[in-house]
Amino acid sequence: MLELDNFVVREYFKRRIGDEGLGIMMSVPEGEITDEEIAELSDTKLTAVRKTLYRLYESRIAEYRTERDDSSGWITYLWRFNYDNVKKILEDEADSKLKELESQLEEERKGVFYQCGCQRVLFEEAAEKNFMCAECGTNFEYISNDELIQELEEKIAKIEQWKEKIKKE
Ligand SMILES: [Zn+2]
Repeated sequence: MLELDNFVVREYFKRRIGDEGLGIMMSVPEGEITDEEIAELSDTKLTAVRKTLYRLYESRIAEYRTERDDSSGWITYLWRFNYDNVKKILEDEADSKLKELESQLEEERKGVFYQCGCQRVLFEEAAEKNFMCAECGTNFEYISNDELIQELEEKIAKIEQWKEKIKKE
């Protein structure tokens, strides 16, 4: 369900909990688990695991319940992921990613682009500068963005498919 290999999911969690957090999450199996067990599974320091868990708790992605050992008085925190919330968050994330990609696609479709040694600009800007870049001293040459458009279209299709899939789960 978490599909941490999906790029929308990865980007989202990477932003929220960083690379280390992502590594921690990837090693968490379904069901309840203690922070010590996660630390062992992910080969990470317990303090880092706790930091990640509390951050996920704040976003309502992870939740815990406590269990008290009657003889020792020791309290155990049992963590689990709230998959309904994860699903909602990921759907929102997919929507905002789609919006971003679609507006980028629109820009690419309506623009004609030129490239020098250091940057890519619209035809209008290249023409204004007489097709010569003052920054790197090379000419602006026409560059096709067909491949980029295709890439964007594929990315959008992938996210749409994925959205349909998580809706059904
Ligand atoms: Zn340049």
